[in-house]
Amino acid sequence: MKCDPSLLRPALPAVKSRLIRQLLLPPLIILLMVGLGLIGYVLSDNSGIRILSENGERQLELHARTVESEISKYTYLPSLLELEDSVSQLLSEPEGGARQSVNEYLEGLNRRSRSRAIFVLDTSGRVQATSNWRDADSFLGEDLSFRAYFQDAVRGEPGRFYGIGSTTGEAGYYLAHGLEEHGKIIGVAVIKVRLDTLEERWQRARLEAFVSDENGIIILSSDPARRLKAVRALSPQTKERLARSLQYYWWPLNELEPLARETLADGVEKLTFPANSETAQGKLHEVTYLAQTRRLADTPWHFTLLTPLQDLRRESMIQGVLVAVAFALLTILGIAWNERRKVIATRLAAREALEEANSHLERKIAERTADLRASNERLKGQIRERRHAEQTLRQAQDELVQAGKLAAIGQMSTSIAHELNQPLAALRTLSGNTVRFLERGALETASANLQTINGLIDRMGRITASLRSFARRADDGGQASLAQAVEASLQVLANRIAGSHVQLHNLYEDQLLAIDQTRLEQILVNLIGNALDAMASQPQPQLWLEGELQADKYRLLVRDNGHGIDDDTRKHLFEPFFTTKPGEHGLGLGLTLSASLAAAAKGSLSVEHPASGGTAFVLALPLVNAPTEPPQQP
Ligand code: ADP
Repeated sequence: MKCDPSLLRPALPAVKSRLIRQLLLPPLIILLMVGLGLIGYVLSDNSGIRILSENGERQLELHARTVESEISKYTYLPSLLELEDSVSQLLSEPEGGARQSVNEYLEGLNRRSRSRAIFVLDTSGRVQATSNWRDADSFLGEDLSFRAYFQDAVRGEPGRFYGIGSTTGEAGYYLAHGLEEHGKIIGVAVIKVRLDTLEERWQRARLEAFVSDENGIIILSSDPARRLKAVRALSPQTKERLARSLQYYWWPLNELEPLARETLADGVEKLTFPANSETAQGKLHEVTYLAQTRRLADTPWHFTLLTPLQDLRRESMIQGVLVAVAFALLTILGIAWNERRKVIATRLAAREALEEANSHLERKIAERTADLRASNERLKGQIRERRHAEQTLRQAQDELVQAGKLAAIGQMSTSIAHELNQPLAALRTLSGNTVRFLERGALETASANLQTINGLIDRMGRITASLRSFARRADDGGQASLAQAVEASLQVLANRIAGSHVQLHNLYEDQLLAIDQTRLEQILVNLIGNALDAMASQPQPQLWLEGELQADKYRLLVRDNGHGIDDDTRKHLFEPFFTTKPGEHGLGLGLTLSASLAAAAKGSLSVEHPASGGTAFVLALPLVNAPTEPPQQP
């Protein structure tokens, strides 16, 4: 099968583009992996923040309400003192002796309400009675007129204040109420409560939260480090004012500075703080929170809930990695699928090429078969023509044989006439003599003469018989005895043989040959006659008839020691009408006819030129295997 060379030729541009693909593909895949991982991370982070903020919203509401209820549960308490007569007496007559009983009353009330302190101020802001009258750092007699809660309450407004006590240095929430009598404010009742329980509760619940007051200062915080820090930047004037009010005692009121701040929505921020050792994520350098802020009812305060985003971040990172890994897997699957598709495509192409080559081959075979059929037809035509020509030739050959025979007869007639004349003359003489011997009564001599006459007549009969058989047209089939054929030929040529004194060497065995007897005789007459001609000027002419078996044939060598054949003559030996003999001596048909007769009997006639001189004609004829009857005598 012949392959199309274009299929094998490497496609250079294809190789180049494949190389570029192989070089660019890995970084591109890595880039896409990182990109998709990042997108996965961001999406997961955003959705996580959304879910967290929804949850946080509920948590914020819950805890803010807890803070509100904690604060509001004391609001009624200062106003209760209005109902107490001893308080009114004390305020109307500070030196009236009611102080002690008020002190004790306040002490009992404070104990029951679990507040830090309850005290009563006159309208000038001086403490007239207090629950901690027994303590060394009692407020008794202290002037607290500078406190904002007093100033508000004395004006008849509810006094709310978170601050650090100037006496105790302890932070607390102050609720003040102006005590009225007959529509006139006679003093101010103040209750100080601590909100530490809220902080403790947050810490126990591992909740991160803080409450900032109207100045933006964190007053309550689950993380003590954030306490008394400003959630927003304070101007120097505000700082000075606050310092002067001693609301936060001497605390520096530093700003709570997150490392990063991002506003996500109204009241929702993302804040990143440096991690401190007290947090659960102590090993981290920074902690990011979702900060949700809500204003607390009835106060200017704000409650902020901090939800750590570390877990969310870890989860988002896992999601991002999962997306990247999924993409990598899909890419690998895609590449594997593509490779497989290519292999299948290559196989299909190869199969198509094979089928194409096969059909091409089949087409070629069909074309060649058609050509062969046509040439076969041509050959058949030629064979028919040749057969026809051969038939014509055979006919012509037969005609030639016949003509040759006639010519030979013509040639021989002279010698035959000569041959017959001699016995005829002898017969005439003998018969004349015999008549005379009979007349004389010499019967014995007459009888002897008659016997001689008989012998002469036999000889003459043989001569004429051989002539007749020579002239007869014979069939291709038949069989011949070699010895009889040789004898008949020598008989035909007996006169010439006798005249030439040739020495004959019979070195053959009698064989039954597959050729017509007459034809064999014809061949031998020709060959021996030619030999006699060639030896005409030879002083010691010798003729050898040598035979040998060769496979299924018998070779008879007719060799003479004549003048031989020169090179020019050798080329034309078997050509019809080629002769070197002068005048009417040669017709040039003898060898041609002999060779064609031998060939017709599936034998051959060839010539050899012995180194010793002379010529040898080799007649090879097939043997008759089956024993057959000997041919009839001529
Ligand atoms: P013809 O005898 O009539 O010439 P042939 O065909 O028998 O025709 O022979 C052709 C020629 O071959 C002869 O003329 C002769 O020159 C040559 N030739 C045949 N036999 C011999 C032989 N035995 N020796 C030499 N020459 C021969």
